[in-house]
Amino acid sequence: MPTWRLECSACLPTRSRDASGLPGVCEECGAPYLVRYDALPPPEAKTLLREERWTMWRYSGWLPLADGERPVTLGEGGTPLLHLNRLAERHRFEHLWVKEEGTNPTGSFKARGLAAAVTRASRAGARHLVVPTAGNAGIATAAYATRAGVRARVYAPNTTPRVICEQIRAFGGDLILIDGHIGDCGTAAREYATQSGAVDVSTLREPYRIEGKKTLGLELAEQLGWRVPDAIVYPTGGGTGLIGMWKAFAELRQSGWISGTLPRLYSVQAAGCAPIVRAVESNAERATPWEHPTTVAAGLRVPAPLGDRLMLRAIRESGGGAVAVSDETLTAAARELQTIEAIDACPEGGAALAGAIELKRRGAILASERVVIFNTGGGWLYRS
Ligand SMILES: *Cc1c(COP(=O)(O)O)cnc(C)c1O
Repeated sequence: MPTWRLECSACLPTRSRDASGLPGVCEECGAPYLVRYDALPPPEAKTLLREERWTMWRYSGWLPLADGERPVTLGEGGTPLLHLNRLAERHRFEHLWVKEEGTNPTGSFKARGLAAAVTRASRAGARHLVVPTAGNAGIATAAYATRAGVRARVYAPNTTPRVICEQIRAFGGDLILIDGHIGDCGTAAREYATQSGAVDVSTLREPYRIEGKKTLGLELAEQLGWRVPDAIVYPTGGGTGLIGMWKAFAELRQSGWISGTLPRLYSVQAAGCAPIVRAVESNAERATPWEHPTTVAAGLRVPAPLGDRLMLRAIRESGGGAVAVSDETLTAAARELQTIEAIDACPEGGAALAGAIELKRRGAILASERVVIFNTGGGWLYRS
């Protein structure tokens, strides 16, 4: 089982600390910490994977789990990778897959990150968690907190889809609706954490959600026979999925599990909130906050992500890019996934398909390439 340290993603590699207690962001500069393992499994360990069950914990050698520890789990991960025959033909892709994350417990890929974060927080003695969310992270925090026997306070915008609010409450989350966006919820959550002692499990304000999200990339590589795709098109809000996969592929290559060119990572955002697209287009190192963010894709309504620098690094180092799509286009694409392939896509999943089509139209992705899009959650969560 792994041992690890934490390394600041900005003062790197000069500033690192041990992983004891409940680490937040870098004490010096406020940037997120990343987990660095003392050793990763050797390629010979591939054959041992066959014995493991299909949840994200089959990759326990890559995850922050100490000797003898059991994770807080609902069986997250192990989601299907499905070839989209009809949509590929319709939009002229030779190889187009969807990673269907709507089949996770709690209905979205947020289950992966929160399973890891709640495991570490509860092992460190936290009895009370708090999270700001555009919706799905609130469901996952409430569910995994309950599973761990601890309490969860959730701050979400008052525009959060009704079913998502119901799911947060159903799993015992103490839901507070805020007149504002996820950034405003973050301010309220931090105030509450200071005043109550609750542990903040916001995106990148603790280092373990990224590790859970990393299993998106590990699983994808294994499902493709350890031959990674040419391009990944991912709907981006806070950026944990993108950063997690980038870390996964880097670690897989470093440990000799894969070789050759890593996938190009493409971020798709909604036209009404596209800070990362704007930063990529203007070649900036940081994103500037998006004014008046609006989109039906709740998970993409993140105007000032803390992980902007890491996302931009992942996009540039992988040779990828970023594209914005309108609410109308992403909604139509989600419907295509539903009616043509029976994938119950959320609006964010629709954005991934719409983004892949647009990137191919621009020539950034070729028709002959192997392309994977992500449906990050279930469409049922967004029904009124
Ligand atoms: C949170 C969320 C996103 C964005 O996730 P990040 O990986 O943090 O950028 C996309 N889709 C859905 C359904 C989400 O809940």
